[in-house]
Amino acid sequence: MTATVLVINSGSSSIKYQLVDPEGGQALASGLVERIGEAEGHIEHKAGGQVTERYERVSDHGEGLRQVLALFEEVGPDLAEAGIVAVGHRVVMGGSAYDGPVRIDDDVLGVIEELSPLAPLHNPANLTGIQVGRMLLPDVPHVAVFDTAFFRNLPDDAATYALDREVAEKFSVRRYGAHGTSHQYVSAKAAEMLGRDDLKQIVLHLGNGASASAVVGGRAVDTSMGLTPLEGLVMGTRTGDIDAAVVFHLARNGGMSVDEIDNLFNKRSGLKGLTGENDLREVHRLIDAGDENARVGLGVYTHRLRKYIGSYAAVMGGLDVLSFTAGVGENDDVVRAGAVKGLEFLGVEIDLEKNQVRSKEPRVISPDGARVTVMVIPTNEELAIARQAMSLL
Ligand code: AMP
Repeated sequence: MTATVLVINSGSSSIKYQLVDPEGGQALASGLVERIGEAEGHIEHKAGGQVTERYERVSDHGEGLRQVLALFEEVGPDLAEAGIVAVGHRVVMGGSAYDGPVRIDDDVLGVIEELSPLAPLHNPANLTGIQVGRMLLPDVPHVAVFDTAFFRNLPDDAATYALDREVAEKFSVRRYGAHGTSHQYVSAKAAEMLGRDDLKQIVLHLGNGASASAVVGGRAVDTSMGLTPLEGLVMGTRTGDIDAAVVFHLARNGGMSVDEIDNLFNKRSGLKGLTGENDLREVHRLIDAGDENARVGLGVYTHRLRKYIGSYAAVMGGLDVLSFTAGVGENDDVVRAGAVKGLEFLGVEIDLEKNQVRSKEPRVISPDGARVTVMVIPTNEELAIARQAMSLL
């Protein structure tokens, strides 16, 4: 019998899940519960090529997960027969506490709760998912896999903000990063494919949220997200890097409250703020229709990518591999071409034909013999979480 892991990613009003065979890498089932707590919720369960959908009220996370387990019983696969050996929970903020997966007990729950002020939208939701998960599946170990773990041991030079030490310490202000599970998975995949463990790599995780990392010999040495996922690259709706004094300016002269500025920077900025659309497919459509704001928006997006590639090559003193991943990175050849434009001096080039190939497989898109291997590597955070959970058993 195969051993499987149920991976749970619990958000403030949603639960995403996947039943994964960590060895073979397949998902045996997947689905999501959304609009938890609203008048009508939505549940979608995919298994064996079949999609089951329900529209009904889901009062809370406990009810949501109960419904999911009922669907596993009704339409399969049967969890016991599928050999479930663990539940892996995605947790966004592990702070300075965790640099790898951890088996969940009451102490771990306490730490995740203590870290909630650093990720107020995510950790409480993750915690709820864990609590109901443990209640409903008490006979298997539950493991927390943190988005920040891969960046826990960044060198001090990269992790420390140039801020008054006392204030920084008192309020735990440092660079924690995010998307770590994806950066770790993609950089490990590139190393495996190239058969080398001494590589200097840059990973660009470009989804609706976006982040860059610099990885030397499997260890993260820098990353673009900071105390929160707001810093760094231009994202679907987030500013990325911005002069902190913009906050003072908007508060003093724009009469905006801290919450309003938080909402502006996180939800109404990035591509959305620049072009009116956060989805790059829409941005391209606007550009094709001659929209000048969309053209500039894409320019700001790719300019930031080139800046990070250049600075991370400098941080590492060289570059062997540049990988693109996530929704934009895996699908958007125009963004990939824009990100490397003019970087031939660093040895970064892409082959136009290879770049246009559409595929779900990891692949090289640089020309044969190029100094830097440029790759597209589909990320698989669920599989990475399942494997990390298994590693503790
Ligand atoms: P993710 O957060 O990884 O799910 O990525 C979501 C984002 O990927 C969307 O907002 C789009 O901007 C982008 N995306 C998805 N599919 C495509 C595509 N075929 N071409 C360009 N961008 C895409």
